[in-house]
Amino acid sequence: MADNMIYFFKQGEADGRTDMKALLGGKGANLAEMSNVGLPVPPGFTITTEMCRAFYENDQQWPEGLEAAMDGNIAKLEEATGRRLGDKDDPLLVSVRSGAAVSMPGMMDTVLNLGLNDAAVLGLAKQSGDERFAWDCYRRFVQMFGNVAMFIPHRQFDGMLHAEREKAGVQFDSQLGAEQLQEIVAEFKKIYRASTDEEFPQEPREQLRRAIDAVFGSWNNPQAVRYREINEIKGLLGTAVNVQTMVFGNMGHTSFTGVGFTRNPATGENKLYGEYLVNAQGEDVVAGIRTPKDVNDLPAEDLSDFAECEVPAEEAKELYGRMYEQLLDVKHTLEEHYRDVQDFEFTGQEGELFMLQTRTGKRTAVAAVHIAVELSEEGLIDRKTAVMRVDPNQIEQLLHKQFDADAKTAAEDEGRMLATGLPASPGAAVGRIALTADDAEEMAAAEHEAAREEGRDPAGIILVREETSPEDIGGMDAAMGILTARGGMTSHAAVVARGMGKCCVAGCGAVLPDEDAKVVTIAGKEFREGDVISLDGTMGQVFAGAIELVEPEMTGAFGTLMEWAEEYRKMGVWANADTPHDAQQARDFGAEGIGLCRTEHMFFEEGRIASVRRMMLTAPDVRRIERQLSQAQLARTQTSGEEMKKIDAEIASIEAELAAKRKLYDGALEELLPEQRKDFEGIFRVMDGLPVVIRLLDPPLHEFLPHEPEMQAYLAEQMGVPAQAVASRVNELREFNPMLGHRGCRLGITYPDIYKMQVRAIMEAAVNCKKEGVDVRPEIMIPLVGTDNELRVCREAAEAVCREVLEAAGVEMAYKIGTMIEVPRASLTADRVAEYADFFSFGTNDLTQMAYGFSRDDVGTFVPEYVDREILENDPFQVLDQTGVGQLVAMGVERGRQTKPDLKVGICGEHGGEPRSVKFCYRVGLNYVSCSPYRVPVARLAAAQAAIESE
Ligand code: PEP
Ligand code: MG
Repeated sequence: MADNMIYFFKQGEADGRTDMKALLGGKGANLAEMSNVGLPVPPGFTITTEMCRAFYENDQQWPEGLEAAMDGNIAKLEEATGRRLGDKDDPLLVSVRSGAAVSMPGMMDTVLNLGLNDAAVLGLAKQSGDERFAWDCYRRFVQMFGNVAMFIPHRQFDGMLHAEREKAGVQFDSQLGAEQLQEIVAEFKKIYRASTDEEFPQEPREQLRRAIDAVFGSWNNPQAVRYREINEIKGLLGTAVNVQTMVFGNMGHTSFTGVGFTRNPATGENKLYGEYLVNAQGEDVVAGIRTPKDVNDLPAEDLSDFAECEVPAEEAKELYGRMYEQLLDVKHTLEEHYRDVQDFEFTGQEGELFMLQTRTGKRTAVAAVHIAVELSEEGLIDRKTAVMRVDPNQIEQLLHKQFDADAKTAAEDEGRMLATGLPASPGAAVGRIALTADDAEEMAAAEHEAAREEGRDPAGIILVREETSPEDIGGMDAAMGILTARGGMTSHAAVVARGMGKCCVAGCGAVLPDEDAKVVTIAGKEFREGDVISLDGTMGQVFAGAIELVEPEMTGAFGTLMEWAEEYRKMGVWANADTPHDAQQARDFGAEGIGLCRTEHMFFEEGRIASVRRMMLTAPDVRRIERQLSQAQLARTQTSGEEMKKIDAEIASIEAELAAKRKLYDGALEELLPEQRKDFEGIFRVMDGLPVVIRLLDPPLHEFLPHEPEMQAYLAEQMGVPAQAVASRVNELREFNPMLGHRGCRLGITYPDIYKMQVRAIMEAAVNCKKEGVDVRPEIMIPLVGTDNELRVCREAAEAVCREVLEAAGVEMAYKIGTMIEVPRASLTADRVAEYADFFSFGTNDLTQMAYGFSRDDVGTFVPEYVDREILENDPFQVLDQTGVGQLVAMGVERGRQTKPDLKVGICGEHGGEPRSVKFCYRVGLNYVSCSPYRVPVARLAAAQAAIESE
């Protein structure tokens, strides 16, 4: 039995198990598991991660009892192997390797061949009958121990080795003979003495003790700490230490070492995948000094060239063939046992195969889907497990163009990666820089024309902006990718790009665009408009120059997996889409409705913006004059005689002024009405038979105002007022905090005609489509409601228009009027708000903004640091903060349904496509999540997983 400090393992029996990773580390737990399964694992033991923690708590001294436990386990190991540590005739040699609960490849330390000394090396030579091998092991040990335990840089040893190779006139270490290696050991020991002021330790217990200390110590070396930071690995105790009997891949030409996957981790193909090196130890594969061979070439290994091969070539071939067969058996056993793809390390020693490690194999999205489906079809896992196996975040990769993996690595090697920003919208893009939206449109149009004439595909454009605004929509549409210097994951650029399925890197502080000078500086390098850059929106990276792109792979397995997911999914998945094109994309991806159609983007289209601006600029006048008029009318009722006549004259003049302003205002609204109607008709047609939630206007006012003098002059002329009047109106409407200002239903209440026009457009579009035979299901959504009264007022106004339109058309049609819950007060009073709502939709972008008091457009300046320093676990605009904002969601659902038990509730904030948030939504009882079209498959898979998890 284990003594709780150390867990022993040997082929056929082990104290540990695979589910003990937290205590034994991934490597230790799986060495135990493989031993239990009967795989050929050299015996050894694992010192627990708790001991590592105790080591740090105990001033870097071993905790009490560990020494005695070590003695006991060394004795067991000596018994299992029939060898003794330090024996001068037949020494036991061990490896000492790190292994945390979460794999941290290459970050921590390893020492091989421990136990050798000046006497044991002779014993090893005698015992193995191979002097060269023994000295090779010793020189490796001196170097590794020197480096790991005493921090002597590798280059000191490597420089010496290089010189010896040159002297001997050979290319590889494996070509050095015993005598040369013996000389090298002597030189290495000199390096050791010069660097440490001590002789190389000869006592194996002492070697072991110091190697274990060094592995514990490597838990906190700078690269391991940084790796944990980058990969958000938190809450681990430390590293375990695995002490294991050495087997030798460097015991001549019938020995080798290698790494493998039970299936191809890039494509998922069911074929052994991996590499090996003859006459080598593990670090040679990693070091990349010699090029390893494909593991499937093992049976073809031809040693006839090696004059010094220990066995005849024919015999060696047969031996390799046998070891390959053993590896195929291992593949089978591992998959049968773990029921998943394994990534393993192996060593062949003179014809005998040993397993040194196994873990779940990391894989690309394509492979993950392929493997899950195939394992299920082979009967190794059931469908539910297959659905659970694929990370929903990964599958978005399958829907977008990507960089060719080799081309990207080459670009990195060439130092072309310039900067990193937020991975705002996945996929990859290559194109010429455009610094304004107009330039992007012009450049794209010219490029399309040129490409058409030349009969080729048009090259891409990358729109690079400080940040984007709704006015940039045309340029964003024309671009292949978008790069912004500012803004978070819910910034305008990020939201719009995701909606469009376009690659976007946002909030990249190293980008300094100067649109006037037509240059942008990226990480200190200057690029002119027209220069080519590449973006990886999945990783948030910016590269100089072009990187080759590959098309998305919509494999058959992907379709199968999504079909299986549908068997379990219970919560609906809708999409956020503002155009028929996006709606179609969403429907193709399986969306069951539109959960958010934002109408403000429609207002920016060419030919409309001037009408919108006239409407916005005259709305305050109309409101002011209407108020004046009603005050005068009230005053009139309280007067008579001369006074009344005066008021009548005043009323007449106010009415004249109102009529003039109304003409402009109503004129603008009338211009917009048919345009909006057309927008909605397009979406209703695409969404035939499915609900479409259209949100009434919700812009921060300033986004619509004309700031450029030319535009102001143009509008002034149209409106028949001096340019100065337009400029001062723009000034008047400027707000200190537009996100908390005159937007959403506040706008609808103060300027009711705008909402009325929109409701009319929605209902007339619905009527027209219904007459065409389309099954229309309109749902009107009022944004930014904080009190029940706000919703009541907006609802009454909207209902009146709906009735009027339906009556005029003589059509009966069901419609809904609901609200967004995005102001915390609306959640707190959801029972009252629900009185006037047919549905709720949580706008968690604003809800997060207001719950935290973080401006969603400015979080880029501090939230990344909060996440780095673990002040926040995640960016709350990306991953719903279940602890805080989640309470507002849960409360809103519960209180809303107190009033209306069947109230339909959804979410349309960006979190609606984030898998962990989707699962939370399922748990709190939402009817559906709504997300950007390209996230629909992600949300569908996450929703299926949520249902399976809660079974
Ligand atoms: C929200 O606030 O979550 C939302 C969907 O609305 P918008 O992002 O348009 O403010
Ligand atoms: Mg909102």
